[in-house]
Amino acid sequence: MELLKTLVDKGLRRELPTREEALAVLATADDDVLDVVAAAGKVRRAWFGRRVKLNYLVNLKSGLCPEDCSYCSQRLGSRADILKYTWLKPEEAAAAAGAGVSGGAKRVCLVASGRGPTDRDVERVSRTIEAIKEQNEDVEVCACLGLLSDGQAARLREAGADAYNHNLNTSKATYGDITTTHTYADRVTTVQQAQAAGMSACSGLIAGMGETDQDLVDVVFSLRELDPDSVPVNFLIPIEGTPLAEKWQLTPQRCLRILAMVRFVCPDVEVRLAGGREIHLRSLQPLALHLANSIFLGDYLTTEGQAGKDDLAMIADAGFEVEGTDTTTLPTHRADALATARAGCGSHGGAEHVGSEGEAASAGCGSAGGGCAPCGDAAPAAGTAEGAGAATGAEPVPAAAPAGAPTAGARTDLVAVRRRGVGTDLPPNA
Ligand code: SF4
Repeated sequence: MELLKTLVDKGLRRELPTREEALAVLATADDDVLDVVAAAGKVRRAWFGRRVKLNYLVNLKSGLCPEDCSYCSQRLGSRADILKYTWLKPEEAAAAAGAGVSGGAKRVCLVASGRGPTDRDVERVSRTIEAIKEQNEDVEVCACLGLLSDGQAARLREAGADAYNHNLNTSKATYGDITTTHTYADRVTTVQQAQAAGMSACSGLIAGMGETDQDLVDVVFSLRELDPDSVPVNFLIPIEGTPLAEKWQLTPQRCLRILAMVRFVCPDVEVRLAGGREIHLRSLQPLALHLANSIFLGDYLTTEGQAGKDDLAMIADAGFEVEGTDTTTLPTHRADALATARAGCGSHGGAEHVGSEGEAASAGCGSAGGGCAPCGDAAPAAGTAEGAGAATGAEPVPAAAPAGAPTAGARTDLVAVRRRGVGTDLPPNA
């Protein structure tokens, strides 16, 4: 397929695909999914080899959020039967983080529900970061605390935070359909604050919220422009008690196409397979390792993931290896740019924007989750394959199922609310 050859070449050059090419990836037929995975896999291996970075979530504060993100079990008015607790003590969070590190995690992601932290919250999280680093000097710490106020990003960096996560989640055009209590622009600003403070930015998306193919391409192109170092790709976990509980619209093949599109648009960025992989990719999870170079180990914030030992077995069986702390995750050019930003030189550590004709200014890439959460609904209207093919000159491909079309039915049996780990007396799943 000429389209895939073009995209591999561009990915190896860090060149931005056209929107039509990105749409054409999403419109490829299920019969072609292995070809799509193989092509995007070449780009993944060129920048990240066969390494898989493991990340471990610690939910510092669960539930009772005043914001109304429709996908989130912790939202205002949520009837989801999740664990609810206030801030963990630094030593409790450090113990939880230690379990993840023992399980192979290289990065610990400290997440708290809420619109954003108070300065007192930032101090509390700073002490938590310090406690974690005392126990595990080499571990990377990412904070995910919501919208930041002036000075908070600098304080977190000073305390040792290596990264900050704040997801764009969906396209600017549909953001208001998902959340009304804060704006898309608020999110962009927070990611930029993190970058300006020298933290590695993590910003991603949630697929399966009813969005169109155009919405998915919009948000991924916006992420490239924002230029985060890591991009979590979440697949909506439709949790009972939330407005999006009925949204079961993803197939394993569509998840793979979405991941491939993200890889082609953000070739040299840490693409993280995030919430929802188990319930939507199911037995095709190992194929996603050819696209993403990073996953979460164990459980999510409020739902249970696959057992950590099964994650490790999957990685080994698929011929990949867990990335060690002695290896730098990012390609040299990105790692160098981040180091420069930390030295106060004003750059925030992204790829050079080498997009094709006239698109250089909109190139660049980004991670996962609202005020916070890494799990993620909206309105149908997929682009037709014919339209995309015609626009790119690529081979015509059969029409894919509309993005908003429901699949075989809800699989509520696959969603388990987290009842172990932090906030409980039971050991974590790491
Ligand atoms: S994603 Fe974050 S900000 Fe939004 S409702 Fe959930 S906890 Fe609150």
